[in-house]
Amino acid sequence: ARYVFLFGTHPTSSKDILGGKGAGLAQMTKIGLPVPHGFTITTEACGEQWPEGLEAEISQRLVELEAQTGKKFGDAANPLLVSVRSGAAVSMPGMMDTVLNLGLNDTTIEGLKQKTNNPRFAYDSYRRFICMFGNVVMNIQHDKFEHILADIKRKYTRHFDCDLTAEELQEVIREFKALYERETKAPFPMAVMDQLKHAVSAVFSSWNNPRAIYYRKINDIRGLKGTAVTVQEMVFGNTGPRSGTGVGFTRNPSTGEKMPYGEYLVNAQGEDVVAGIRTPNPIPQMERDLPEAFGQLMNVYRVLEEHYKEMQDFEFTIEDGKLYMLQTRTGKRTAHAAVRIAKEMVEEGLITKEEALMRIDPNSLTQLLFPQLVEADKKTKRLLCKGLPASPGAARGKLAFSAEEAIARTHAGEKIILAREETCPDDIEGMNVSQGIVTARGGMTSHAAVVARGMGKCCITGAHDLHIDVANKRITLPDGTHLGNTDIVTLDGGSGEVFLGEVAIQDARVEGAFATIMEWANEIKRLGVRANAETPRDARKAREFGCEGVGLARTEHMFFQGERIWPMREMIIAETVEAREAALAKLLPYQKEDFKAILDIMDGLPVNIRLLDPPLHEFLPTEEKDQIQMAEVMHITVEQVKQLVDNMHEANPMLGFRGCRLGVVYPEINRMQVKAIFEAACELKAEKPAANMHVEVMIPVLAHEVEMKLMRELCVEEAEKVMAAHNIKIPYTVGVMMELPRACLMADHIAKHAEFFSFGTNDLTQTTLGYSRDDAAKFIKKYLERNVYEKDPFQVLDQEGVGQLIRMSLQRGRATRPHLKCGICGEHGGEPSSVAFCHNVGLNYVSCSPFRVPVARLAAARAAI
Ligand code: ADP
Ligand code: MG
Ligand code: MG
Repeated sequence: ARYVFLFGTHPTSSKDILGGKGAGLAQMTKIGLPVPHGFTITTEACGEQWPEGLEAEISQRLVELEAQTGKKFGDAANPLLVSVRSGAAVSMPGMMDTVLNLGLNDTTIEGLKQKTNNPRFAYDSYRRFICMFGNVVMNIQHDKFEHILADIKRKYTRHFDCDLTAEELQEVIREFKALYERETKAPFPMAVMDQLKHAVSAVFSSWNNPRAIYYRKINDIRGLKGTAVTVQEMVFGNTGPRSGTGVGFTRNPSTGEKMPYGEYLVNAQGEDVVAGIRTPNPIPQMERDLPEAFGQLMNVYRVLEEHYKEMQDFEFTIEDGKLYMLQTRTGKRTAHAAVRIAKEMVEEGLITKEEALMRIDPNSLTQLLFPQLVEADKKTKRLLCKGLPASPGAARGKLAFSAEEAIARTHAGEKIILAREETCPDDIEGMNVSQGIVTARGGMTSHAAVVARGMGKCCITGAHDLHIDVANKRITLPDGTHLGNTDIVTLDGGSGEVFLGEVAIQDARVEGAFATIMEWANEIKRLGVRANAETPRDARKAREFGCEGVGLARTEHMFFQGERIWPMREMIIAETVEAREAALAKLLPYQKEDFKAILDIMDGLPVNIRLLDPPLHEFLPTEEKDQIQMAEVMHITVEQVKQLVDNMHEANPMLGFRGCRLGVVYPEINRMQVKAIFEAACELKAEKPAANMHVEVMIPVLAHEVEMKLMRELCVEEAEKVMAAHNIKIPYTVGVMMELPRACLMADHIAKHAEFFSFGTNDLTQTTLGYSRDDAAKFIKKYLERNVYEKDPFQVLDQEGVGQLIRMSLQRGRATRPHLKCGICGEHGGEPSSVAFCHNVGLNYVSCSPFRVPVARLAAARAAI
């Protein structure tokens, strides 16, 4: 096997083998962009031990690299310096470490000095190398180097690193070496081949450092071999005012607008931009600062998009006016930007509609539905400062000053805004749990900005007016105002504004590019998308988001609202059918009113209403004070209430006296509900003769064909009675919620009486796995860690197990009734991989919460492509 390839010589340039970085450098070399020479060691070589022959291969490629560059590794006169860079198939910003300027030692530094005639620059490069090598390869704390540097800067009153003179830098180098020796008990290595071997090994082992593991975990990245290592000739952005370094995006990653976007620093190297050490300048300013390079850069924007037909995020360095490309990859972007870019690239003829849809992560669409700040309310609040709008959205919470604090207080139930000078990879978990992030330093491409955008989290960077004192957990503003960790702030990620207190928030809308993308999804998808909704508000939201009907209206939710609980309780304590019917008669108008509103909003789209589902004791109070209240209202004694609660207690309510079992034993409850549904429909039709309606009555917790037969008879009888009385015909069907394994097994029999199946996958998962959802929380995490299940089966449908029951039911059910309409309701209906499963097995629709409707529409379209 070959493990080491010069740029552009690998036969496939595949990311899996060369890593994202290696593949990008190889591609850019092939399309003629200026890339410093180098080679990539493939991911196949990543591991504890170096594979046989790797060392010899590296030596061989190094000789070839020397020939390409005309420089020699370790040479005193004309030294080749390299960077040793990590890069896995999937980009993991800041997750693994890079060593720059490798190949410098006390001899080669002389060559670099003479060749560039620039001692200050040479020493600057050397001190950076010692620091990075010490930190990345030998695990010496970065802070220890920073302290030395800060002390020397203070000693000579230098503000920025680049203000230090050559002599001062030599002092830094001496102290860095001494630190290195103290920490490692060995002198800084002078043999350049040793430097290289150590660095390569360190990059390989960084694959398994805790930050990298955590990043893979929260981003659900699995199945990769490891990281590749790229060794590349150094170019220098720190040689003087005609040099610099920067990052660019071919489109604005926050808004999606097509424009040369990015930022740069003059006279700086590598990480300076990303680390937020100085706040960089926006690209357009480069036309003035670095005019020669600006033209070359504009060409890069064009060539990259023409080649990749995708928004690119790239790194470049300018050495004495000449531009070099150091990295390119598909740019991370906000959901807003993703949607706009996809739409505009179709309009520009770069990609097809299908490709556009395949580029948008369905889950990310929920970000577009994130609430926004109410403009008018912003004016009433105090604006504390304005930073850069690094990642959009709105966020409110109390200030926390470290990742640990954010994590601890979030777990204690607080909503947190993480305030940092700048963030570093160790902060990731703290960022992940916070509502939003604000940093005092850093630009639009700083660590905080990139990571927050990836997380879809509101973030403001470069808020210079915030003087953050981490030790005392305090922020001071220029006017002397102090903020501490009990203060609430609101962030506007769209404008970069930070407000004191809570600013009002409003819902988002489907409009602009988002609406266009949703239309394209509808053109392509074949699966229906409905919403679970039982209130007029939810129903309206769901329609706004493009639902094609209601897949589940849970009638019992309506009984918990306000006054309605009392007739419900009256019904429960009733001892005779007459008394029960009298109580039910009081409930009927409430139910009717709700159904009417929903049917009206859905205007002809199917509305699936589920009859009473939970056991009746759920309507009784469990707390003493509520029991006392109930006794008063119902004119009975507290003891009687307690007795009632005791009598109705169930050892396992999930498998208790509920669903259609109630209907079989107390049919009058369901009769009232069906009557309410059809009276609602008939009245609506009478009021609005043009109104269309399609009602589906769904029977829950059903296992047996006879249950279905009885319930169907009940529904039909009641419905026909009401319709005859009104002399109106409403189209309707009666079907079953499939949530018990027996129902799935007997699907062919049940389908004789059921006109539709709706898989209630929440309960079907509980009953098939034998886990109750509430108790599973205790062990499911460990189960995931130990890979029993790959994903939480309550979030992602267990396609193998539960999915098999669904397939089987479809087959059997449709054998009896070929046009049996089948759908799913339950959390899975809005989860993209489960939606794809539903498409593939031939369901007619999925139903999910209103806010997941756009997600499901896009997922359904992607499944059809
Ligand atoms: P990361 O994955 O953290 O971005 P990189 O390998 O891209 O790490 O390197 C870190 C920084 O060093 C980047 O700014 C990059 O542009 C710069 N860099 C890497 N290799 C070179 C090189 N050969 N010459 C100049 N700068 C380099
Ligand atoms: Mg990089
Ligand atoms: Mg259920």
